Amino acid sequence: MKLVLLGPPGAGKGTQAEVLSHTFQIAHISTGDMLRESVKRGDPLGLEAKRYMDKGDLVPDSVVIAMVRERLQKPDTARGFLLDGFPRTEGQAKSLDDCLKSLSRPLDLVIYFKTSKSIILMRLTGRRVCSLCGTIYHLKNYPPKKEGICDKCGGKLIHRKDDSVETIENRLKVYEAQTAGLIHYYRTQGKLREASGDLDASVLKKNLTALFQREKLVSA
Ligand code: AMP
Repeated sequence: MKLVLLGPPGAGKGTQAEVLSHTFQIAHISTGDMLRESVKRGDPLGLEAKRYMDKGDLVPDSVVIAMVRERLQKPDTARGFLLDGFPRTEGQAKSLDDCLKSLSRPLDLVIYFKTSKSIILMRLTGRRVCSLCGTIYHLKNYPPKKEGICDKCGGKLIHRKDDSVETIENRLKVYEAQTAGLIHYYRTQGKLREASGDLDASVLKKNLTALFQREKLVSA
């Protein structure tokens, strides 16, 4: 199963990607997570990327494209992959098409998470992320058992710097200006399917699993 999850920040792509990749044993490729790892390590790519990420702007195409190309060659993608947060520009989408063509592994589907702004703002302002394992929580909807501590690994939960109200506004503008056009791009290819990002994660997971069965990507 080779999928792209497309949609604005806060649509729930990361949460679904985590669950679906586990259920269907396919690689979860999140460019945001990969970039945050680089920032944490303080390597040259991370130092460059941080300047953009802190403001909610996009990291240059050349950087993310190279990163994803390399990632797609790794053996854990053999059963399939789920791209989360990539592509985000038409340039990235075209490069992805070229890369997958050269690997003879075209995309099966692109799932567009259509999500209302009030839900996005509620999710992102309340989102907390484990600084060690990346598990996503929400202060109200999905709180950890012990305040500020990850249930899974005991890591400290953090509020991402780019989940502040001002940066969220910019990320949404950037999404409209640079990413929303990909809905048309993939619809034209006949690969776009729509899901409601407003739904609870467990309901959305059921809907997506049913969609994969209808599309014969997994057995019923
Ligand atoms: P995310 O976790 O997907 O919301 O990504 C966090 C930040 O990482 C974004 O606001 C961008 O600064 C950067 N980023 C992640 N993926 C990409 C991408 N495909 N292209 C450019 N920048 C990206």
